[in-house]
Amino acid sequence: MKIAILSGKGGTGKTTVASNLSINIPGCIAIDTDVEEPNLHIFLKPEIEKNNIVTKEYPVIDSSKCNLCGKCGNFCRYNAIIPAKDQVVVFKELCHDCGGCKIVCPKEAISYKKRVIGSIYSGISECGIPVKYGELNIGEISGVKIIKDLKKSVEREKIVIIDSPPGTSCSTVAAVENSDYAIIVSEPTPFGVSDMKMVVEMLREMKIPFGVVVNKSGIGDNEIYEYCNSESLEILLEIPYSEDVARLYASGTTFSIKFPKYEKIFYNLFQKVKSEIIKEA
Ligand code: SF4
Ligand code: SF4
Repeated sequence: MKIAILSGKGGTGKTTVASNLSINIPGCIAIDTDVEEPNLHIFLKPEIEKNNIVTKEYPVIDSSKCNLCGKCGNFCRYNAIIPAKDQVVVFKELCHDCGGCKIVCPKEAISYKKRVIGSIYSGISECGIPVKYGELNIGEISGVKIIKDLKKSVEREKIVIIDSPPGTSCSTVAAVENSDYAIIVSEPTPFGVSDMKMVVEMLREMKIPFGVVVNKSGIGDNEIYEYCNSESLEILLEIPYSEDVARLYASGTTFSIKFPKYEKIFYNLFQKVKSEIIKEA
C-alpha cells in the first residue's frame, strides 16, 4: 500500500502530515522523495545506516567513428546531444539516460559513462520506523532517477508513506506514480487553493484516488471548503492552527509525539485512507 503526501506548493505542512502519519502506522516505512530539499529526516531523525550513491549515464562520442549525421540530435527530446559543425556536443546534466541516441546512431559512435547525481540514505527513526530519503547533488537538474531508485528500493514493503515534491513537476509525477492513494495537504488561503487546483488536475489525470488534509485550519478564508465542496473532494482531516504546533515544527519535532491526542487522529486518518483504497480496489 503506497500513500503519497503532496501539496500545491512548499511550506503547507506536507512533511508535517507525512511524519505524523508514518509514526502512527505500525509496520510502515517512510520515504522522502523531495530530493531537492529533503526534510522528512529532520523530523523523524533516523540514525543513518546506509548511504547508496545514485548514478546516471550520459553519452560519450567516439569522434573517429562519428560522421556528424545528426541522427542523435534529432532523436533527443531534451537537447542533451547536439551535433555541431565539427563535433557532437553533449550536455550531460540535460541527459535523461534514455539510451535512445545510441540506438539511432548508424556508426556505433556512442557509448555511455556513469556519473554520480546524488545519494539515498537509509536508517531507523528515533520512533523505530525505517526511513529513506534521496538527495540530489547541487547543480543537478533532475532528481527523477533518484526518486525512481528510492521507490524501487521499497517496492516490496507493505505500507509506504511517500513524502513527495511539491507542485506538479516531473519529480512529483515520478513520486506519486503507482500510488494507491494520495493526500493533498493545503492551507485555507487563496494561494494554497490556487496551487492545489493543479495538483487535483494532475491526480485526476493519473487516476489516483485522493483526499484533502486542511492544515492550519481556522486561519485564512472559506475558499478551500467551497472549492472542495464544488469538486466533491473529501476533506479527510483538519489540523487547527496552533502556536504550540508551529513552535514544535520550527524545532523539527513531530508534534504527535508531544501531543498524544494526535496519535489517534493520525491513526484514524490512515484507517480512513485504507478503507478508501479497499473501496477502490
Ligand atoms: S548519430 Fe552517431 S554518427 Fe550521427 S552525429 Fe550522432 S554520434 Fe555522430
Ligand atoms: S541518452 Fe537519451 S536523453 Fe540522453 S542524450 Fe541520448 S537521447 Fe538524449
